[in-house]
Amino acid sequence: MTTTLNNVDNKEIEKFDQVAQIWWDLKGEMGTLHVINPLRTNFIMEKLTTPNPKILDVGCGGGILSEALARQGATVTGTDLSELSLQAANHHAKKEGLEIEYLYERVEDLAEKRAGTYDAVTCMEMLEHVPEPEKIIAACVKAVKPGGHVFFSTINRTPKALLFAIIGGEYILRLLPRGTHTYSKLIRPVELKNWSKNNGLEFSRIASLIYNPFNGTFKVAHGTEDVNYMAHFIKNK
Ligand code: SAH
Repeated sequence: MTTTLNNVDNKEIEKFDQVAQIWWDLKGEMGTLHVINPLRTNFIMEKLTTPNPKILDVGCGGGILSEALARQGATVTGTDLSELSLQAANHHAKKEGLEIEYLYERVEDLAEKRAGTYDAVTCMEMLEHVPEPEKIIAACVKAVKPGGHVFFSTINRTPKALLFAIIGGEYILRLLPRGTHTYSKLIRPVELKNWSKNNGLEFSRIASLIYNPFNGTFKVAHGTEDVNYMAHFIKNK
C-alpha cells in the first residue's frame, strides 16, 4: 500500500532501498547518474565562489553527487530517507577516504534545525519522487543562506519525456531501472520556477542534458528546457 504521510511516498523509498546495492555499479542500471555526474557537478560548482562551500545534498541516494562535490572542496551533508542507500553512501565515502555527513532525516525537519546554514542546496532527481515537491523546495530555501544557491534537476512532463525518459530510457535502452519514474509526477520547468518564486528564490539559469544514443554520452545545452533539465536559483536576501 502506498502511504504518503509527511510528504514521503513509502513506495518510492522502497524502490530506492531495493537498488541500494547498485548505486556505485558504474555499468549497472544507475550508471546514467555516473555519466551525467561531471556535467551536473560542473553546473553547480562553476557558480559557487565561496571557497569550501557548505552544501546540503537533499535526496542524496548513494552519494554519487555528494562525493563529487566533496572532491571539489565542498563540505557536504547528504540527506535521504532510504536507509539502505545511506548505508551504501557511508560505506563508499569511507572507502574513498571522504568525510561526508549523511543523515536519515526529512529535509523539512533538518531545515528547521539548520535554517540559513548552507552556501548551497542541491536536490537532484528527487522532486519527482515526492507527493508535494513544493514543500521540499520550501525546506531547501529555508536551509540555504540569504543570497545562497539552490539547484534542482528533474524530468519535464511532456510527451517527448514520456517517450525518451520513461519508454526509451527505462524500457528500451535500460538507462535506469524500470518503474523509476511515474509520468504524472514529472515536473514542468514552469511549475518548478513558480514554486521556487513562491518560496523566495530568484531564477538564475536553466540547462538540459541531451542524450546521444549513438555513443551513450550526454551534453549540456544551456538555456533549453528539454527532457532532463537542471535549474539554478538564488535565495532572495
Ligand atoms: N540525488 C541523487 C539520487 C537521486 S534518486 C542523485 O542524483 O544521484 C532519488 C532519491 O530521492 C532516492 O535516494 C530516494 O530515496 C530519495 N527520496 C525520495 N523521496 C524522498 C523524501 N521524501 N525525502 C528524502 N529523500 C527522498
